[in-house]
Amino acid sequence: MKVFKFGGASVKDAEGIRNLAGILSKEDGNLIVVVSAFGKTTNALEKFLLEWLSGDRADVFPEEIYKYHKLIINELFSDTGIVAGKLDETFTLLKEFLLQESRRDYDFLYDQVVSYGEIWSTIIVAEYLKACSYDMQWIDIRKSLLTDDVYRDANILWNESTPIIRNIFSFRDTQVYVTQGFLGGTIEGKTTTLGREGSDYTAAVLANMVDAESVTVWKDVPGIMNADPDWLPDAVKLDEISYKEAVEMTFSGAKVIHPKTIKPLHNKNIPLYVRSFLNPGERGTIIKSDAVLKRLLSSGIPA
Ligand code: ASP
Ligand code: MG
Repeated sequence: MKVFKFGGASVKDAEGIRNLAGILSKEDGNLIVVVSAFGKTTNALEKFLLEWLSGDRADVFPEEIYKYHKLIINELFSDTGIVAGKLDETFTLLKEFLLQESRRDYDFLYDQVVSYGEIWSTIIVAEYLKACSYDMQWIDIRKSLLTDDVYRDANILWNESTPIIRNIFSFRDTQVYVTQGFLGGTIEGKTTTLGREGSDYTAAVLANMVDAESVTVWKDVPGIMNADPDWLPDAVKLDEISYKEAVEMTFSGAKVIHPKTIKPLHNKNIPLYVRSFLNPGERGTIIKSDAVLKRLLSSGIPA
């Protein structure tokens, strides 16, 4: 079983979601698909939250964000009835939350509001896959990936979450699960987030918990480069790097993958592929342990 992660840049419009479906159609094994908020939705929600907090009207509505998701739906579906209904339901929940919420703890509010980006994206992706006749289930990760209540930077409760995650992603009735990156939930049922760009980390955590064979992060770059191409035009894509090198690169500012992603994978020797969403036929970069690399190289098998 594999874990695929699609970031906001990969699913920023209808075309991106069709492309995602195309990538999945080439897989025949069990898959967990982790999806971020569409495009720049998280930034837009952050902005919206600040506006809401600074204003005196409780009834402001994220109109532009709503229109953006509606536009994608209109382009993707010939019959928008079900998906538009689900989207409207969740926008109503957000509206109700804002009307009732008096607590002014910014980090708490942030997680309750900004998390909707991933809820909307996964509802739309899941409904689209369903419309394409995929055997698929949508999972609300907020109920299974339990965290502490450090809002905006929540820590995974590994012991509590692992059995729940294993049970939820059992593949008993389906081959494909679609779920949200970046989100978790407290034992009391409040939504948390794992830190900006945290969906890569979600993919790694789930892979660790279910003992996945690999994680693939689908990105809008060909893989991991040896330097920033904006600074060094001769930068080349790396075919293989070790976990250790990957950690060093994420901390040196090469923002290709989230720094927390490597450890849960390294602990279980699960390889991480960084591949191009635009050219899915290309190999991208593989990140794995030195030992595995050395073994493969000495046996002459291309890694
Ligand atoms: N949507 C969240 C963010 O933009 C999480 C992620 O993309 O990984 O930070
Ligand atoms: Mg994002």
